[in-house]
Amino acid sequence: MTTIPHWINGAPTQGSAATQPVFNPATGTEQAQVVLGGAADVNAAVQAAAAAFETWSESSLTQRTQVMFAFRQLLLDHEEELARIISAEHGKTIDDARGEITRGREVVEFTCGLGDILKGSFSDQVSRGIDVHNFRQPLGVVAGITPFNFPAMVPLWMHPIAIATGNTFILKPSERDPSAANYIADLYKKAGLPDGVFNVVHGGKDAVDALLTHPGIQAVSFVGSTPIARYVHETATAHGKRVQALGGAKNHAVVLPDADLDFAANHITAGAYGSAGERCMALSVTIAVGTAADNLVEVLQRKAREIKVGPGDTPGTDMGPLVTKAAQERIENAVTTAAGQGATIVVDGRGLKVEGHENGFFTGPSLLDHVTTHMDAYKEELFGPVLAIIRTDTLDDAIELINANPYGNGTALFTASGEAARRFQRKINIGMIGINVPVPVPMSYYSFGGWKDSLIGDSPIHGPEGIRFYTRPKVVTTRWPQPTQQTTAEFNFPTSN
Ligand code: NAD
Repeated sequence: MTTIPHWINGAPTQGSAATQPVFNPATGTEQAQVVLGGAADVNAAVQAAAAAFETWSESSLTQRTQVMFAFRQLLLDHEEELARIISAEHGKTIDDARGEITRGREVVEFTCGLGDILKGSFSDQVSRGIDVHNFRQPLGVVAGITPFNFPAMVPLWMHPIAIATGNTFILKPSERDPSAANYIADLYKKAGLPDGVFNVVHGGKDAVDALLTHPGIQAVSFVGSTPIARYVHETATAHGKRVQALGGAKNHAVVLPDADLDFAANHITAGAYGSAGERCMALSVTIAVGTAADNLVEVLQRKAREIKVGPGDTPGTDMGPLVTKAAQERIENAVTTAAGQGATIVVDGRGLKVEGHENGFFTGPSLLDHVTTHMDAYKEELFGPVLAIIRTDTLDDAIELINANPYGNGTALFTASGEAARRFQRKINIGMIGINVPVPVPMSYYSFGGWKDSLIGDSPIHGPEGIRFYTRPKVVTTRWPQPTQQTTAEFNFPTSN
């Protein structure tokens, strides 16, 4: 049985004695143990990162972007291997894992243009003989705490920008699928990143608490569930840190009667059941407006039944297992509860067995109709392959319903009407909106982030917001007087002339 170590100062590090099993969700078997870090491991990582910051923060923009170019190429060259590592611990299909690597790599590509992005501005002669310019500098040692569902992409939203802007980084990945983090650490080393600039400390609450309170850490990026996002935000800001904290979601699709129902159902099916619904942008609710409902449910149920459920590394699989046995049981119980509360189970994914993988954490796609906002299946973020249908009479009713939901991550409208699309995007209180696009994850040069309980605090992630988050500005006012020039010092508050 292998033990997955921390990665500190450019090398695997055993550190703490405590470990936890890592499962293969497709077989249900334990395949490794991961070390569970505590304060001593976090302290060792902070020491290494602080020492590396002294030289890394003085490295040239050219050196930093060259590392990112090399890292990008290595991500391309090793995509298949990394995708297999992700699939074996998370359960998602190899192609889906490739997709997350691609979307993460795009953030690296964004940092390859850092020379342009980081340019400051200059104002000539703001007063007689006085110029002003500004520039941004890195913060120091920063940390990222990430969820299980995108073990490569979500950390890639953080560390390339933090590192390219001159910070040093400590990643605390999910303990459920920890191996991708170490693999990425090794790629960075091969790309020429100096030791100590990127570190990995594995673990759970103890490791997180040590990061949130350590005086040597300047900023914390968090992505995960809303209660933990809130806890991270409160604790780390109370310890003087800059924090970005992205939380959970309940994402609604809205289908208007004028939409192409087949097109909408195809995309909603992929958005709801892709990655077994374990995406923060998964479409877990569909609001069928007016006469769209019956036909839409008919097409959706046909498509849900066509989904091939199986191990993520078997070609042709559409949907893999859930990440843990507990998640599988939680989802199946949620379907049972929904039926008890009056929902109609149109497609029942409970009890699905995959031949040859009887102990895997599989559940099939479930489709629930006639769901109301009072049911648990609507109120809770299920984070599994369950799609709930709610019916409303008008688009405005749908907008009101979505705006009343505490989450505000993503939403998608399916329509042929430009007027409806415009009204929707202006009135909806959601951070990321798709018009005939089911999973509107912004490109790396925009920023990713929801509203309301899907983002605690005020900082979205990556893109321009990422640059802002990992740097702080300086404004310099300069005068180079000529030796012969007479100037008088002013006792009044200085104004320009
Ligand atoms: P989680 O909140 O359980 O865990 C996230 C991280 O927090 C992990 O590293 C974990 O070790 C740590 N953690 C867990 N419990 C903790 C505790 N009590 N104290 C301190 N740290 C703790 O989330 P998850 O189950 O790994 O991921 C799924 C959740 O993440 C969903 O809610 C999903 O919507 C959300 N998510 C959000 C986004 C987004 O961009 N908004 C993206 C991906 C996932």
